[in-house]
Amino acid sequence: MMPPHCFLCDRSLREGDPASSFTAVRFGINAQEEALEQDRDREGWVGHPSWVAWFCDEHTALAEDHSHLHWREAFELLRQHRRPSGPVK
Ligand SMILES: [Zn+2]
Repeated sequence: MMPPHCFLCDRSLREGDPASSFTAVRFGINAQEEALEQDRDREGWVGHPSWVAWFCDEHTALAEDHSHLHWREAFELLRQHRRPSGPVK
């Protein structure tokens, strides 16, 4: 797994947020990707699948609203929620 880094606002552990403020959200995959994942599981692969992304506590709910979609579609929609210039506090 990659270290926590919000897909939407680029918050990461570097900003001093604890790892517990981040959630890895898993999105939908197609049959081919499902087969790939099963192969990887059998081989004990520990990488970061394309269909899993990190979100900070502020964006996890939005991400989960999209998690039933295929990851490519979900990522496309979520990118539209990205703010142009970093998080607004
Ligand atoms: Zn965020």
